[in-house]
Amino acid sequence: FKDYVNGYPKESDMVVTYDATIHLELPKSDGGLILLKNLYLSCDPYMRGRMSKPIEGAYVDSFIPGSVISGYGVAKVLESTHPDFKKGDLISGSTNWEEYSLTTNPESLIKIQHANVPLSYHTGILGMAGMTAYVGFYEICSPKKGDVVFVSAASGAVGQLVGQFAKLYGCYVVGSAGSKEKVDLLKNKFGFDEAFNYKEEQNIGATLKRYFPDGIDIYFDNVGGKMLDEVLPNMRLQGRIVVCGMISQYNLDQPEGIYNLIFLLMKRVRMQGFIVIDHYNLYPKFLEMILPLIQERKIMYVEDTIEGLENAPAALVGLFTGKNIGKQVVAIAHD
Ligand code: NDP
Repeated sequence: FKDYVNGYPKESDMVVTYDATIHLELPKSDGGLILLKNLYLSCDPYMRGRMSKPIEGAYVDSFIPGSVISGYGVAKVLESTHPDFKKGDLISGSTNWEEYSLTTNPESLIKIQHANVPLSYHTGILGMAGMTAYVGFYEICSPKKGDVVFVSAASGAVGQLVGQFAKLYGCYVVGSAGSKEKVDLLKNKFGFDEAFNYKEEQNIGATLKRYFPDGIDIYFDNVGGKMLDEVLPNMRLQGRIVVCGMISQYNLDQPEGIYNLIFLLMKRVRMQGFIVIDHYNLYPKFLEMILPLIQERKIMYVEDTIEGLENAPAALVGLFTGKNIGKQVVAIAHD
């Protein structure tokens, strides 16, 4: 990571270096170190916040200019002096954007127990994105069978799962996404009832009226900004707005104004934000639900995998222009 970023991040905000002289070795005397071979990296929108100068109240630290980027990932243990991890173990958790890492914070690592799903799934559906969709939908939305649900950034890592959870729950689900290909995916692969390309709609308010003639019970907001503002007047009485993310605002110097907040009052709407890291006590319960759904193919999951660490900057930056179709993963190595 080169230096703090203003506006949209660029590939040139990061640099990929190769140094054949670095030799990682575990000191035999020191218990508790793990040498990892990193396999899959997760690209996540929250990483944009980490590229900005530190701000008060942030829930994650900013990257330090000149240091290696870190995030969620999957890795293999090559050597370990830590009692809980042994050579050959596969782990998910906090990893660095490098081929090999010497880790000193094993408390952030989860040993992967189930080998019958693709390993990369631990960067998404079995990782933060899956937990976010699960917590956001089941814990924060207060869903009811028959609810009319709207999901923005619906084809992404979180959105595709929220939509499918809502369908399994018996809701009517509409998604928005930024291309025809994504809209087709929503309708034909993920089973959304309806979907539209928000980039092609001149008047989002009128579009929402068309798709929700009787209003929206649950808005699962991944984008914030203008879409949120247009949703507010279209909420039903006692509706719920779940503030999961506001990706449309992450690269702006000045956030866009929200003018329709009065509809929270008029429609008795509950609007609630959440941060998934507060809810990891639910992880075992989540796994119990999601693993059979994946195995029985009751949940579909689409990843967008880019090969090679040298392509990681492009993959991360691409999230903010909608280049990714599904969960953005970087494969450094496959085993
Ligand atoms: P995605 O896989 O959905 O990738 C990001 C997508 O956002 C892009 O593909 C693009 O899709 C859309 N997008 C980018 N810029 C804009 C814009 N200006 N306006 C509207 N849409 C835009 O990411 P995730 O599923 O990982 O994350 C989705 C949201 O959930 C993010 O806001 C993220 O910050 C949030 N999040 C929150 C968590 C929490 O704890 N609260 C945890 C994890 C994620 P398109 O082509 O459709 O525009």
